[in-house]
Amino acid sequence: ATNNQNSSPTTTKPTKTSLSPDSMINLDQGDPTLFEPFWRKMGDKCTLVIEGCDLMSYFSDISNICWFLQPQLGDAIKRLHRVVGNAVTEDRNIVVGTGSTQLLMAALYALSSPADRHPVSLVAAAPFYSGYKDQAEFLRSGLYKWEGDAHTFEKDGPYIEVVTSPNNPDGAIREAVVNRGEGKLVYDLAYYWPQYTPITQPLDLDIMLFTFSKCTGHAGSRIGWALVKDKEVATKMTEYMQISSIGVSKESQIRAAKILGVLGEGCRTADSENFFEYSHSILKERWERLRNVVKNSRVFSLPKYPRDYCNFTGKYMDSSPAFAWLHSKEDIDWESRLREHKIIARSGERFGASPKYVRISMFSPPEAFNLFLERLSAIIDNTTGNV
Ligand code: PMP
Repeated sequence: ATNNQNSSPTTTKPTKTSLSPDSMINLDQGDPTLFEPFWRKMGDKCTLVIEGCDLMSYFSDISNICWFLQPQLGDAIKRLHRVVGNAVTEDRNIVVGTGSTQLLMAALYALSSPADRHPVSLVAAAPFYSGYKDQAEFLRSGLYKWEGDAHTFEKDGPYIEVVTSPNNPDGAIREAVVNRGEGKLVYDLAYYWPQYTPITQPLDLDIMLFTFSKCTGHAGSRIGWALVKDKEVATKMTEYMQISSIGVSKESQIRAAKILGVLGEGCRTADSENFFEYSHSILKERWERLRNVVKNSRVFSLPKYPRDYCNFTGKYMDSSPAFAWLHSKEDIDWESRLREHKIIARSGERFGASPKYVRISMFSPPEAFNLFLERLSAIIDNTTGNV
């Protein structure tokens, strides 16, 4: 049973961090454990028991294009999108993946043509999520070729543009930038949820990728899903999954279905049970504290986001992205400089931008975030341009 309290120290216990004043603090990765307290508070509501004889088959629903998608997960995904209002699901094919990471690879496979003499170009507007380049280049595929920044892309021929909105690393709301007839678009909507950004419309795009990791914070379940308009593309994405991993863990799928169901129900009821209100309030408070520290500096700046009406909350809201994209006027490699101050962040260079930018995860445990603000304040006080 998954609710066995003694099975392993990682199953149920909260992650304990004890930082000393000279500990390194790692704000490099976007590991969303800060949402843990909410799910702990949900107690048994999300618990499910899986018996030894359950879920043994490779197959889930052979009448579906994505034959390994557990029907209850497909239903929970559709219900949640309807409640949140962030994406159109009617007449869409759902393809489930081991995180949206695997689904991006599946989409690249589905949108490329093995018969072509040249690989299809893959681009994303800088600053882009560093994972795209890493994934595209890792296996040296002959099907597609990473061509970097979409803003400077001039090569003729077919291309795939990944549009990340809100964007990782800078939180911007984005649209495609190349806009040529022979282009295909993949929308990575990992952060298009109300804790990060106002939900302004249900998006209705050909290929939309979402992930359980950033929606609820359950990155460890490794569940992502694609909403795909075109049947042929969904079939090819499913084929990719079949060849690479013969489907996706059913245990993970039914756990995700359960948790997405509890999340959707909570959105209709009391505030304290509303995950998006809870997670937004934590991020909002962190952003306010960070902006307060940065405003004392003439050197550093943070992006500004337009306030917008959120259809989900029925209120005007500010964005509170998962990452802070810190810019410095000083021509310094800020990743290295922050490391000297025992802060691990990711250089702008990894995102196709200048090392004057660094990306800082807003997802760290509270203790690490507090220490980060203290250290950043000290850096700002000791930097030439302080007020
Ligand atoms: N897309 C974006 C923009 C991300 O930030 C991430 C995770 N950092 C992913 C995709 C991958 O998420 P996962 O594989 O956990 O679903």
